[in-house]
Amino acid sequence: MFFMQESTFDKNTQKILQCFDLSESLGVESPFLQLKITGVMSADLIARLSDIYNHSSIATRQILVKSVAASMSGQDMRMQPFDQLEPKERESLMLAVQRLKEIGQCASKKTVRILVDAEYTYINPGLSLLTLAMMVAFNQQFPLIWNTYQCYLKKTFETAASELGIVQNLGGCFGAKVVRGAYLTQERLRATKLGYPSPIWDSYELTNQNYNRVIRYFLEHINQVGPRCNIIVATHNEESVQLAIERMREMNIDPLNGGVHFGQLYGMCDQISFPLASAGYAVYKCVPYGPMLEVLPFLARRAMENQGVLMGSRKEKTLLWQELKRRMKNTLKMKSKHNLKVETV
Ligand SMILES: Cc1cc2nc3c(=O)[nH]c(=O)nc-3n(C[C@H](O)[C@H](O)[C@H](O)COP(=O)(O)OP(=O)(O)OC[C@H]3O[C@@H](n4cnc5c(N)ncnc54)[C@H](O)[C@@H]3O)c2cc1C
Repeated sequence: MFFMQESTFDKNTQKILQCFDLSESLGVESPFLQLKITGVMSADLIARLSDIYNHSSIATRQILVKSVAASMSGQDMRMQPFDQLEPKERESLMLAVQRLKEIGQCASKKTVRILVDAEYTYINPGLSLLTLAMMVAFNQQFPLIWNTYQCYLKKTFETAASELGIVQNLGGCFGAKVVRGAYLTQERLRATKLGYPSPIWDSYELTNQNYNRVIRYFLEHINQVGPRCNIIVATHNEESVQLAIERMREMNIDPLNGGVHFGQLYGMCDQISFPLASAGYAVYKCVPYGPMLEVLPFLARRAMENQGVLMGSRKEKTLLWQELKRRMKNTLKMKSKHNLKVETV
């Protein structure tokens, strides 16, 4: 069973490496690839790493990150900071680090930036530990590896600031994807079931305030350090996009090359992405790619997770319908002006 799992992670790693070729073959300028670390190692092991990371001081967290980063940079991995792990878990960790190293090297060779996804709070600290290590190993010149910050969490601001500090202390550039968060229902359910306080803000408004606070924080940091920090404002929320643009203008951050990107799902909220791109901002459309049966649940989850996106789709539908009517009207006007026969489809 154990062996089968590891072989599945190996296969997934190979598929991820093929995605780099795909990105390269599309000839897109500064491509991004989203990575779910749970695809290349077991969530149970990440949860164990999360425990270790959570119960460590900032100084010890830095030692843990440094140790994994060293292994990704070709040195021997010091396992002593991970002595709480069982021998089998350590073995598994070594394999996972090796896979992440391969992914980082490929990203570096092909200059494809990696956005590591954030998932559930019980594994996020472990994901951060591995992602920060990748940053230290591969972000020496510019932010190639980026971590994700879910602003529906009460702790996000402190997490973002302390992780930025760790990477800076270890000499890496920093990349951040700022999202609201996709696992609201599950997080609240889990907290109720296990009897701990919900990690999620109590209202949508509080999440919004936190989102805007985190964006302002990173923009101010970019304003100070320039290209050593990059962010992607990954949202379908018009107000957040507007706020980011206003702050960028105030700080004179270049729309295209100032290190700030905007991200939306492909096929969603084009009424935000297209005007942004035509105004010269860097826009990323996230395209879920894979076998139909695996991609559909992802899309269904996205739709179910928040009504806001569904409302956005309704708005988008109305806008498309208005545009279609406007074009038909224009065509009819032109045809009657030139006395042409109108054909209906
Ligand atoms: C490019 C891209 C990458 C993404 N990557 C990730 C990722 O790695 N990890 C991840 O978790 N998600 C990710 N997401 C999804 C994201 O977290 C949101 O679920 C989605 O974008 C909807 O939020 P919004 O800001 O676009 O829209 P909005 O409609 O403004 O916000 C909806 C969000 O607000 C929050 N919210 C809603 N109601 C409440 C409430 N009552 N109390 C508190 N908060 C509330 C929830 O987070 C909800 O998803 C990604 C999205 C994009 C576009």
